[in-house]
Amino acid sequence: MPADSIGEAVGRGGTNQAVDVRRVQQLLLARGFARLGDADGICGRNTVDAIVDFQRGFMRRPDGRIDPGGRSWHHLAGTYSGMIRQPPPATLSTTDLTRPVPRPAADTLNPGLQAVSNRRMLELIGDPRSGDYSSQCQPPTLPRVRRNTVLDSVGPFRVAGLVPAVLSLKAVMIDIRAEQPAVYRALGTAGMLCCRWVRGSTTSISNHSWGTAIDLTLGGVLDVHGNDSVQFGLTLIAPIFNRHGWFWGAAFRTEDGMHFEAGADLVESWIHGLL
Ligand SMILES: [Zn+2]
Repeated sequence: MPADSIGEAVGRGGTNQAVDVRRVQQLLLARGFARLGDADGICGRNTVDAIVDFQRGFMRRPDGRIDPGGRSWHHLAGTYSGMIRQPPPATLSTTDLTRPVPRPAADTLNPGLQAVSNRRMLELIGDPRSGDYSSQCQPPTLPRVRRNTVLDSVGPFRVAGLVPAVLSLKAVMIDIRAEQPAVYRALGTAGMLCCRWVRGSTTSISNHSWGTAIDLTLGGVLDVHGNDSVQFGLTLIAPIFNRHGWFWGAAFRTEDGMHFEAGADLVESWIHGLL
């Protein structure tokens, strides 16, 4: 058995061989599921709970089990190939990273993830500005949004956003730095928390209004909105965002390649932690 795979299923209903359980526990620990404690090779409740929490990032109904070669295994091992993975070239210039490429096919984008609707955001958190929106960025007025907002560094830049979204971005950026260092060096932001309508709409509230969406730049260059092309560098990091439960705006009807937002399951998982 190669060191980077498991022999039999781990978790709820799995065979739970100690060597496999230990491997899964090590990977979960490396992803920040610290309450597991030690990788002791015993599949108890903490291990199953950690698997379920991990699966929430990309599954609607987590089953608490990691099958060898299955989707959860690939997410855990960082080998998920729902999108074509390209090895990071040794050096990528800003010109390479900002080169427009056709947006990937719809069925390869955001595997297992859903964008969260306005209706659900309003139910879960409330209306950040009581209906008072324009096409311009304005600050939130809703106390619940204001008191759950933070301005902090996520690695390559500082952003203001909803606290759990900013924390999640820090984890995303750690992975980008390790797996796509050239993209990491070029990354900037065109904004996170910003109460406004979706571009081109006067009825849909942008998820930026809750501070759960972020717009990225590469080498200071913005992706062109709505032209069905995306910057090459964004295709390299979209799978990393997806793995953390973030939805890529390239899949929107009007392509929005610079835009990433917390997916529906991720937002649902944050609600009870808000003040
Ligand atoms: Zn955006």
